[in-house]
Parts: sequence; structure tokens; C-alpha cells
Amino acid sequence: MINNAKKIVMKFGGTSVQDSPSITNVINIVKKEKARRVVVVSAIAKGTNSLEAISRFSANRKTREAKKILNELIERHCVIINALADKKYKSEASRKIEKFKSKIEELITGLSIINELTLRILDSFRVFGELMSSTVIYYAMKSAGINVALIDSREIIKTDNEFSRAYPDFELTQRNVNSKILPLLNKGITVLAQGFIASTIDGISTTMGRESSDFSAAIYGALIAADEIQIWTDVDGVLTADPNAIKNSLKLSQISFQEMEELSNFGAKVLHKNSIKPAFKKNIPLRVLNSKNTSSKGTIVNSKLAFTKLVKSITYKKNIMVLRLKPKESLGLYVFWEMMLNILNKHKPQIDILVSSNNALIIVIAENNYTKIHYDDLKNEFDEISYYKLIKDKVLITLVGSDLSSIDKFEERIFRSIGGVKSEAVVFGYNQHSFSLLADVKHCDKVMNCLHKEFFEKHKQKIKLFEKIRK
Ligand code: ASP
Ligand code: MG
Repeated sequence: MINNAKKIVMKFGGTSVQDSPSITNVINIVKKEKARRVVVVSAIAKGTNSLEAISRFSANRKTREAKKILNELIERHCVIINALADKKYKSEASRKIEKFKSKIEELITGLSIINELTLRILDSFRVFGELMSSTVIYYAMKSAGINVALIDSREIIKTDNEFSRAYPDFELTQRNVNSKILPLLNKGITVLAQGFIASTIDGISTTMGRESSDFSAAIYGALIAADEIQIWTDVDGVLTADPNAIKNSLKLSQISFQEMEELSNFGAKVLHKNSIKPAFKKNIPLRVLNSKNTSSKGTIVNSKLAFTKLVKSITYKKNIMVLRLKPKESLGLYVFWEMMLNILNKHKPQIDILVSSNNALIIVIAENNYTKIHYDDLKNEFDEISYYKLIKDKVLITLVGSDLSSIDKFEERIFRSIGGVKSEAVVFGYNQHSFSLLADVKHCDKVMNCLHKEFFEKHKQKIKLFEKIRK
């Protein structure tokens, strides 16, 4: 019996499973892990984007364009089957991919008749990315001698019906994990499941937000009571800044759950923001690792709050808009607040910061597909209760670390280093883990570079937390 062996969740993102060499690499990584394993996979790189494009073309009656993209997507999966599936599995694997293809074709036909792309329909397209990637990876794993079971995450993770950003019901999901996942793990079988996708209680396909496979991994990790949740990606770990923006960024050996949550909330792409809470709650360490550089130990995210009074990473979020509201004179302040909260609750924009005084309110919102959909209604309703000004094209730049306010001359260093760039609002996060400033988006690069120099490059004191990245 291997009931007391360790349990590990291993999540591989789209670039880690993009083609057959990458999948072979993933299989080698999985085989080296001796614990009981749940492997969570994303769609192959750009797969979800292709499915979104297919749905948009279909809704515009451009079925020829839709089918062209579909054929390319199917072909990428067939190439993987040909390269990695054992002879005895090839036709079975191909048949399954063909079946997915005809289901997508049915959706294309249906949508080209109704012409209305709702979030629910969009999700019904999107789920095929992960369904197909997991199918080809399943046969590749079997062919490589892994004793593996393929699970449909839609039968395990049950969510509300907020399509495109569904949220799980942890109790229901726990029941499914207990009855369908744990027995497999206890028999030493590797469980392979899709990230990102789930379904409502009635079985309608949902997705939990773009890039949310990390969240799926954390859900599985929390519910199997894993010893560690590994997020395998294409960077060495959590860095001091986005490596695309800052070429001298450094890797952190560790970071606390609280700090990581701030980083993800304020724009860092390395871990989906929802993935921290389930791990934090059950105190399960998350480890961010690079599937293309397995010699790096990655970054461990856990409950230890080490290296205090230190900036650990700087992140940014573009497409920020700022709503400045001044209540209409006829409304009492509490009435205004109540009405304002009702409006926000109805539209649920993704609010980053909300600052209020007696006669003004500033709301900082990250504009994304959802806020775009609801934005006009939101504006009209605010118009009824307030004078408002909308400012667009802002960037929210956030320094994350611990006990930031105790850093010597902290604010002074920030403002001196960014020189003449005007920044609009400044907020300290709860627990002093973050400090945000708002600037025009055109200054983003400059501010990021200045702050990175000031806090990570200028003072060359050796702090054991930071490591150089191998290029
Ligand atoms: N495949 C999904 C996406 O591209 C989910 C993920 O990769 O995390 O957003
Ligand atoms: Mg990711």
C-alpha cells in the first residue's frame, strides 16, 4: 500500500506542452517524480487563442476562416500523436481527436446560424483546447510506460455559472475528488487532468478565467491535501520583474503566500491570482519551476515571511482606467456609498483600488474583456448619482515585499528614482506588502527601469534571496 507516499500536483502550461519535444520533456519530468502524482495540463500554446478566433469567425458567419484555423489546430495534435503515440494507440488517439473536431464543427455551424457569441458559448469552444491536449498527452504518457488515468476536469471541478470566470464550489468538488481522484492515487496511478476547464452542477462547460490552469492545479492540490503544488512554466521562477520589461531581473528563491498574492493581483503573470488562496488556506507550498531549465530549483511560495523590510518584486498592470466620482449634492454620503456599492456589485468590474474621502471617490479598474462588456452600463448608472471623470491609458505599478513602510526613506527613494514622472495615486496595501503608483502608460518602461535599478541593481549588497538567471 502506498497510502502514505507523498502527493504532488504538477501543472504544465501551454508552452511546456506546445509540441512533441516539449511533451517528451514533460514526460521525463513526470517520470522522475516519485510521489503520487496529479498532472494538470493547459491547452497547447496558443490553442485557446485559436479556439477563441474560431468562435469569433463563426459568430460572424465566416465559417471558412473558422475551419481553416480549426484544421491547423487539429493538425498540430495529429503531429504529436504521430511522434509520440505507440503504434497500438495511434488510431484510438486519432479517432478521439477527430471526434473533438466534429464537435467543434457542429458548434461552428450552430454559432454561424445564431450569430451571437455569449460567454457561455465561448466557454463551450474553449474547453476543447485542454480536452485535446490532455488526450494526446495521455497517449504519449501511456506509450512512455506511465500507468496513467485521464480524468475530465468537468466531472470533478463544479462551478457557478459565471461563464469565462467561473468559481468552484469547493465542497462539491471535494466530494468528486474523494470518490474519483484519491482512489486512483492510492493505487499508484498517475492522474492526468485538464486545467482551466470545469462545469456547472448541471454539467454545462465553464472556464475559470484565462491562464487559470494554475488555479486548477491549486484546487486539486488543496483537495487531495498535496505535499507540494508544482507550477512548471517557461521562466526560472518568480522574478524581481517581468523579464520582457527588465533584462536584469533576478530570480527569488522564496516568497510568502501574502506577497505572491499581491504580486499576482497587481499584474504578475507567473501565477494566476486565484491559485494562491487554496494553497495558502491548506498551507501547501507552491513551487514555480522552469520546464526548460530543470537544473533551477525555482521559487518556493509558502507561509514563511522571511527577508522583511525589503522590496522583492515590481510588477505592472496596463489598461488601467480611473474613475473619479463626486457625489451629487442631493445625496447624503451614506446613501451615495450604498448606491455606488450596489452598482459595483451588479457589474462586478475588476477593481484594483478604491479610495474614498468625504466628497470624492477614486476607483481604479483594470480594463479587460469583462469590464469592456459592462462598461457603458456602469458609466450610465454612475452618471445618475455622481459627477464623474474617466481617465484612461494608465498603468498601475506596484512594489511588493514585506514591511515596506519600515524601509529607510522608502517613498523618497521611489519618487527620486523615477525623476520627473508624475504619478497620480499612491496606496499602501494591507499588511504593508504592496505600494502602488499610477502613471501614464507611456511612462511604464521608464518607471519600471528606474525602480528596478533603485531597489535591485544600484546597491550591490548580496541578499541570499536573489539569484542571477541563466540566460
Ligand atoms: N489554456 C488556457 C489559457 O490559455 C488556460 C491556461 O493556459 O492556463 O488561458
Ligand atoms: Mg501561466
